[in-house]
Amino acid sequence: MNAEPARLAAGMPYDVARVRADFPVLATRVRGKRLAFLDTAASAQRPLQVIEAVAAYERTSHANVHRGVYQLSQRATDAFEGARERVRRFLNAASEREVIFTRGTTEAINLVAQSWARSTLGPGDEILITWMEHHANIVPWQMVCQQTGATLKVAPIDRRGELRLDAFRALLSPRTRLVAFTAVSNSLGTVLPAAEIVAAARAVGALVLVDAAQAVPHERVDLRALDCDFLAFSGHKLYGPTGIGVLWGREAVLREMPPWQGGGDMILTVSFERTTYNALPYKFEAGTPNISGAIGLAAAIDYLEGLGIERVHAHEQALLQRATAALGRIPGLTIVGQAARKAGVISFTLEGVHPHDLGTILDAEGVAVRAGHHCAMPVMDFFEVAATARASFGCYSDEADLEQLVAALGHAREVFG
Ligand code: PLP
Repeated sequence: MNAEPARLAAGMPYDVARVRADFPVLATRVRGKRLAFLDTAASAQRPLQVIEAVAAYERTSHANVHRGVYQLSQRATDAFEGARERVRRFLNAASEREVIFTRGTTEAINLVAQSWARSTLGPGDEILITWMEHHANIVPWQMVCQQTGATLKVAPIDRRGELRLDAFRALLSPRTRLVAFTAVSNSLGTVLPAAEIVAAARAVGALVLVDAAQAVPHERVDLRALDCDFLAFSGHKLYGPTGIGVLWGREAVLREMPPWQGGGDMILTVSFERTTYNALPYKFEAGTPNISGAIGLAAAIDYLEGLGIERVHAHEQALLQRATAALGRIPGLTIVGQAARKAGVISFTLEGVHPHDLGTILDAEGVAVRAGHHCAMPVMDFFEVAATARASFGCYSDEADLEQLVAALGHAREVFG
């Protein structure tokens, strides 16, 4: 299996062929063709190390956590809590009390909306987001604004797909109670200026939530440097399992928040007259958690850090540059989102071909790209397109994927000529 950690330690170059060997699905054929998997932004593939960590847990250690006095339950609890500590270290968080396991980014943001925002906000208060948000960072705020009478404000973007920082700053005021923004746009690839956004939000006394779903797989996120109050991400975009994610929250803020869901594990005592709640983070983890998912997530973090996040980032950036140049040479192709700083995501349209038809033609050539609105309909409206096709890269993406994409696009042009 993977020799990359040793190569990393020895200062040797990134070897994408070795990395690809860790991902069994990449060897499968699609419609008789080599698979060029270019939809990592939607969900990354899993390496053997993650698959086997989950299987080993299922084979040897599964039981419910936190409740059993018997050894197997203790083992499961140790593995589950060990995963929490692994996430804490990954994010450089102060305490594992701040690490709450959720189903994913969506649930993490809804938790903040329904616990913190719903209990804190009222008429006259404002939540500020950006035009580039995934629906997961729009709709929960719309819902809580309806519930509380607070107002949702949206900071605009420009034609390159960058946040208009001046306009963002102009929308901030002492009424702004929360700024919620994506660190990296899933539809455009834009890397947002997180430090500037956080500093500006802090200056008016607002709390800050960072949607890091598209950030943590590609660049190191250090909570102590970022200085936000909440951060959310999903395991499945980080080479881990689906159905597991994380809400990190600053302990002082989490302590004041009421629980969101009620049930087992989140309580200390229950009687029909009165219930007392458990300590952090369990207060926010009602019911049996996704134990194997958390273990898989920890294995995925081990895997990514074994590759070296900085090396993966450099690899993806090199691929992004080559892809941008190659796609830019295709007549009739328009890249949607041309920010100065981008992650490995290219959204594009091809003249005369609906993105869904394009997706189907590319699929016939073994190329998996996403076609649609990418759960970011306001971005599509802004660029006046119904949808785009989107190619996105991960640690295993290579030159051959890119060549296959370019050839398939050439074929699509012939078909729709
Ligand atoms: N935020 C961003 C930026 C995303 O890209 C996604 C998923 O595409 C989400 C939130 C939602 O993540 P999940 O569906 O894993 O909850």
